[in-house]
Amino acid sequence: MTKTILITGGGRGIGAACARLAAQQGYQVCINYRSDDAAASGIVDAIEAAGGAALAIRADVAQEREVERMFAQVDARFGRLDALVNNAGVLARQMRVEQMDAARIERILATNVLGPILCAREAVRRMSTRHGGQGGAIVNVSSRAAVLGSAGEYVDYAASKAALDVLTIGLSKEVAGEGIRVNGVRPGLIHTEMHADGGEPGRVERLQSSVPLGRGGEPEEVAQAVLWLLSDAASYTTGSFIDVSGGR
Ligand code: NAP
Repeated sequence: MTKTILITGGGRGIGAACARLAAQQGYQVCINYRSDDAAASGIVDAIEAAGGAALAIRADVAQEREVERMFAQVDARFGRLDALVNNAGVLARQMRVEQMDAARIERILATNVLGPILCAREAVRRMSTRHGGQGGAIVNVSSRAAVLGSAGEYVDYAASKAALDVLTIGLSKEVAGEGIRVNGVRPGLIHTEMHADGGEPGRVERLQSSVPLGRGGEPEEVAQAVLWLLSDAASYTTGSFIDVSGGR
C-alpha cells in the first residue's frame, strides 16, 4: 500500500524539499500552503511529471476549520495518512522583546504552536490504533532557536519553537503505545526565503562564520533528517530531536 504524507508549509523552502524527497521515496504527497498558489502547484507539477502523486491544499494551519477541511481533503483523495510533517512556521521582523505588540506575538504563536497541535490532533485521530488506525509518524520542524533563544532578533519565535519541542516530547509519550512515533528536527541557518520576513535576507551569510561547519545549510539537508525520522529505519526512535545546524 502506498503511504501518504501531509507536509504543512510544503510549497517553499524546507517543506518543499521534504515534499520532493518524500515523492522520490514513493509517498503520495499532500502539500499544504497558506497563500502562494504558484509555488505549491509548481511542486505538485514536478512530482506528477516524475510519475508521483501529489495534492496541493491551501489552508491556514492556525484556523481550526481550515485544518479540519485540509485533513478531509487528504481523506477524500488518498483515504489514508501515514506521516505528518508539521513544517509551516513564521517569524516576524527582528526586534527586542520590549518592542513587540500582542498582535505580533499572537500571530507567531498561532502558526507555530496552535497550528501544529491542531494538525497533530487530526493526524492522531486517523493514525492511532486507539481509533482504528494503522499507526504512523509525525515530525515537528522546530529550530535551534528553541535552544539558543534568538536574543535581539525574535525571542517570540524561539519561544514558539521551544513550545513545539514540548509538544514533541509529550505527544510522543501519549501515543507511543498506539503505533505513532513523534520526533523533532531543529534546523539551524538554512538558505530559504524565511529570513527576508525577519527583515534580513542575507542573515545566513552574516552569521555563517559562527557555524562550526562554516556555512549555511540547504533545505535538502533538513529534508534528509525529516524523512529518516519518518522511515522504518527510525522504528525505535521517538521523542527525539535531530539538530541539522552545522554544529551551531
Ligand atoms: P519559508 O521558506 O518561509 O516557507 C514557509 C512555508 O510555510 C510556506 O510554504 C508558507 O506558505 C507556509 N506557511 C506559513 N504560514 C502558514 C500557515 N499559517 N498555514 C499554512 N502554511 C503556512 O520557511 P522555511 O525557511 O522553509 O521554514 C520551514 C520551517 O523550518 C519553519 O517552521 C521554520 O520555523 C523552520 N526553520 C527554518 C530555518 C531557516 O533557517 N530557514 C531555521 C530553523 C527552523 P506560502 O508559500 O503560501 O506563504
